[in-house]
Amino acid sequence: MTSELHGVPAAPGVATGATWIHRPPPAGGVATRSIAASAELAVEELERLGMRLRDEGRLDEAQILEAQAMMAADDELLGRARERQADGEDPVAAIVAAGEEVAAVFATMDDELLAARAADVRDVAARIARHAAGTDAPRLERRSIVVGTDLAPSVTVELDRALLAGIALEGGSRTSHAAILARALGIPAVVGVPGLVDRAAASHEVGVDGASGIVVLDPDAAALDRLAHAAAEAEATRAADEAFLGLPLATSDGHRVHCFANVGDPAETAAAFAAGAEGIGLFRTEFAFSGRPSPPGEDEQASAYEQVLRAADGARIVFRLADIGGDKPIPYLPLPPEPNPFLGVRAIRLAERYPDLYPTQLRAILRAAARTGRTASIMAPMVADAADLATVRRLIDEAASAVPDAPVPRVGIMVEIPSAVMLADELAAGVDFMSIGTNDLTQYLLAVDRGNPALAMRQDPAHPAVLRAVARVVEAAAARSGACEVAVCGEMAGDAAGAMLLIGLGVDELSMDPRAFGAVKRAVASRSRAELAALAQRALGASSADEVRALMADA
Ligand code: PEP
Ligand code: MG
Repeated sequence: MTSELHGVPAAPGVATGATWIHRPPPAGGVATRSIAASAELAVEELERLGMRLRDEGRLDEAQILEAQAMMAADDELLGRARERQADGEDPVAAIVAAGEEVAAVFATMDDELLAARAADVRDVAARIARHAAGTDAPRLERRSIVVGTDLAPSVTVELDRALLAGIALEGGSRTSHAAILARALGIPAVVGVPGLVDRAAASHEVGVDGASGIVVLDPDAAALDRLAHAAAEAEATRAADEAFLGLPLATSDGHRVHCFANVGDPAETAAAFAAGAEGIGLFRTEFAFSGRPSPPGEDEQASAYEQVLRAADGARIVFRLADIGGDKPIPYLPLPPEPNPFLGVRAIRLAERYPDLYPTQLRAILRAAARTGRTASIMAPMVADAADLATVRRLIDEAASAVPDAPVPRVGIMVEIPSAVMLADELAAGVDFMSIGTNDLTQYLLAVDRGNPALAMRQDPAHPAVLRAVARVVEAAAARSGACEVAVCGEMAGDAAGAMLLIGLGVDELSMDPRAFGAVKRAVASRSRAELAALAQRALGASSADEVRALMADA
């Protein structure tokens, strides 16, 4: 019988296929190989899969597998497994249990990215266990929808892509690795579907609509019809968006807005420029600080930043100083547990506690600028007021005197704390640019924890309070007559309706995930500047984010 389930839309597109339930390998069994030999096989496999993704230009995903290859060789995991084996456990059970132990440490972390590592460790342990038990890799035999609680990237990339039609998962979120990979590979996916695996177990066929988050078990003729209709619409949308990729970001009457990219590492930078980015509006430098036992040194950082400036070939690169601490814990920068890490010692607030952290990073940025002769833009996260800005300025001045041959950097701040909005006039006078971080600004303005799924519906930057905050920052910058530029680098910039509102409010630089370029350019090109301004004015007077969304849907 047909039944329809609802989850979180994770990757657009519609597909139907045979039900293929992915079950993790057994937690025990008779071992045919030693832990060490099985781990070696796992390392080889993961490195090979990583290389294949790298060859295909899928750098983000390649990195996930490369990190997993390192985990498979890691003594933390293998040592625990060996200890268990020495205590009498079978190697298969020992490695699975060791994986659980290591994963449990990651799973307690508040940060979604680090918590996602728990799934990666479990997956690595399962792969080693599979080799130890001498079991075959999972294989699809016909066009299928993969159904499971979670799906590790390493499993996804191993499945025959010609037969992998779609993904439906009981667990996961829009930002889980399974969802990120599905989007990158263009595989329709729905995640977070309660009760899915049990209910799908008896089904033969599954349909997924990755745009609306609908999963249909054993679709009947009417449901297949609806899915076919949704598929045609999704394909038309994708093709229409793609047609805009080579065009500038501009309104229908030719008002140009800078289209910048958000990236997390040098490899992504080159890919962003290939996708048409005019510059990098947010280089999240903190990614290079996580997943390692000690911070990257000045030389290592300088060569990474140099690589980025060279790839940019004169285009603007905004290096955000490491936004760590609080919700993004780093093991080698121990911080006492905080009851409210989002309101804790985070980002620029770490300057006092770790006096080397930012000077090292700033010297590295300036050395990269000196070597390439390019001007770097330096952006400080979580600046609350003029005192924070003064700290940032002092740190930059000190670094500049240590690297006197570097071109003078552009200096900016993220506006993501409500106090910075209230003080935007004063702050605008002290910087070259302000970039609005709508992710945190929404969280702090509306008092909704951005990591709390129970509040997901309230985390909407289209809320009139956020729009009024943006308007205020734009006004403060405008009063500086060109001396202070305003950008938005939160997720709102990569949302079609959000981008239209931001341009209507007068923002002239949007920085987003390059995968959003096509959809945003198409949406913005559908309206004149005056129309967007009129829409934004109406949105400012709305009473809720829902009302703003409805207004945009009707526009
Ligand atoms: C933001 O807060 O909007 C932002 C861009 O920074 P992050 O998401 O990295 O906190
Ligand atoms: Mg932020």
